[in-house]
Formats: sequence, C-alpha cells, structure tokens
Amino acid sequence: MPLGAIPEQIEFALQQLPPARHIKLYNSGSFFDIQAIPPDDYPAIAALLNPFERVIVESHPALIGDQCLRFRDLLSTQLEVAMGLETVHPEALEKLNKRVTLEQFAAAAKRLREQAIDLRVFVLVQPPFVCSDEALHWAQRSLDFAFDCNANAVTLIPTRAGNGAMDLLQQAGAFTPPDLQTFERSVEYGISRWRGRVFADLWEIERIATCMHCNTARIARLEHINLTQIIPPVVTCEHCKGAA
Ligand SMILES: [Zn+2]
Repeated sequence: MPLGAIPEQIEFALQQLPPARHIKLYNSGSFFDIQAIPPDDYPAIAALLNPFERVIVESHPALIGDQCLRFRDLLSTQLEVAMGLETVHPEALEKLNKRVTLEQFAAAAKRLREQAIDLRVFVLVQPPFVCSDEALHWAQRSLDFAFDCNANAVTLIPTRAGNGAMDLLQQAGAFTPPDLQTFERSVEYGISRWRGRVFADLWEIERIATCMHCNTARIARLEHINLTQIIPPVVTCEHCKGAA
C-alpha cells in the first residue's frame, strides 16, 4: 500500500458520511499488519480520527504488540480493537485455521486491557465443524470466554455460506448455516449475562430468516435488541412455531 493512500481514503470517506461520534476502520484483515497499513501513515490517520470519541479497528490477536501501542499513543481518543475469536470449540477453532489458540487470544486481550484499550470480539454462531444441536451451547461458551477476556462488546455473526471455502465445507457436510432460532437464543443469552454489550450481525440475515410469516418481525426484534440491549418478548408464529 503506497504511503498516504489510506489517510486519503479515510478523508474522502469522511467527506461523504454524516457526522458521527464513533468510527470503525475495518480493512478485512489486521489494522496492525504493516503490509496492510504502513506505520508511517499512523500520524496522518490518527489526526483524522481524533475528532471522534471512539475509534474501532480490527486485528488478529498475534498482531497486538508494539504497532498497536504506537498507534494508541498517537490517538487522543478511546481506541477499541476488534478481534475474531470465532469459537471456543477446540476442534472447530483449529480447523478454521485462524492460527490462534484460546491462550493466545486471552494473552492478546490482556495486553489490550493493560493498555486501557477496549476489546470487541467476533463470535460465529454455528461455525463449520459444530453441529446444529450443539451450536447454541458453543455460542454461549464463546460468549462466556469473550467476557472472561474483558470484552466490552461481542458481535454474534450467523455463519454464512456464499464464500468459496464455506460452500465447499457445506458440500462436504461439515457446515450448515444456523437457523434463526439458534441465532436468537445465542443473542438473548449474551444480553442476559449483563457482562457487556452484545450485537447481532444482521447482514444478509434474510438468508436464515426463512419463515415468510414471521421473519420481518423477528429481524425487527433483533434490530431492537441491538439498539436497546433489552430482550423483548419472543415473536410467536403459528406457521413455524418460532422454529424457522
Ligand atoms: Zn414463522
């Protein structure tokens, strides 16, 4: 990435976007990967971000080190780092090939906490190699682990087909997407712990919200949970009995 390209991109985006208090910079990788974001760009990036109350970037746990501290020191605003835990299911985590163990994840979380950097965690609901009747259990254990690591927020992502790797696993019988009910119960569990904010990732949620009679109301309910962190009554449906 040429020097100056990323600050220029951020500046361009900020001109298009409405005013906001928080800003997320997700680069489909790790912000602290020096191949992705040149550290010499940090001062210019930080200057653009300082008007915000909170800055959220994503990173692989292995890259929480000196670059992260250097970037934090340039910011006069709260830094939050989002890390993908995916799952605490031991076999599934290994097979997902994220090159991180739970011990390494916890150690990275500890380094963030020691530097007063907030932590956001991504958890997959029903990842590959986790069967559907165990999916809720592993989502719950993953939420517990994330909050044990002092996460301020956990985003639950219903594992999606539609990229090449997941499609191949699905054909091989190693992956099925979660149903909406499993996803709802996972979100409700996280909220009910009262240990931090929990968000339902609703991108393409229509793919798992398959009952045409109740999907609109159930998606609206999840949006409401995201905004209020309160669990409303379950949507009842005489067609799918809420099991879609
Ligand atoms: Zn229904």
